[in-house]
Amino acid sequence: MAKRCSSCNQPAAGSPNFCSNCGGKMIPLPRCVCGRELWRSDNNCDRCGRPKEIGLQLRKDLQNARANKFIWQWIIYPLIGWPSNLTI
Ligand SMILES: [Zn+2]
Ligand SMILES: [Zn+2]
Repeated sequence: MAKRCSSCNQPAAGSPNFCSNCGGKMIPLPRCVCGRELWRSDNNCDRCGRPKEIGLQLRKDLQNARANKFIWQWIIYPLIGWPSNLTI
């Protein structure tokens, strides 16, 4: 679990409520489609290697498609593979 500052974007490990840099509110880091937290400095996910934007977009797509089993099973999974550790 890690967070980043909502105002200056500084990342921090753990779950602080306020930024040590500017005192801003800390919010959870965005996650890649594979479940990995994406730090601002990362260009690619260090678990699955996808570019950050792709990982975020796929994750959003997955969440939108979550209720639709057909899309989930026949479009999304074949597209990204069938990860056993997928966390949504
Ligand atoms: Zn800050
Ligand atoms: Zn990833």
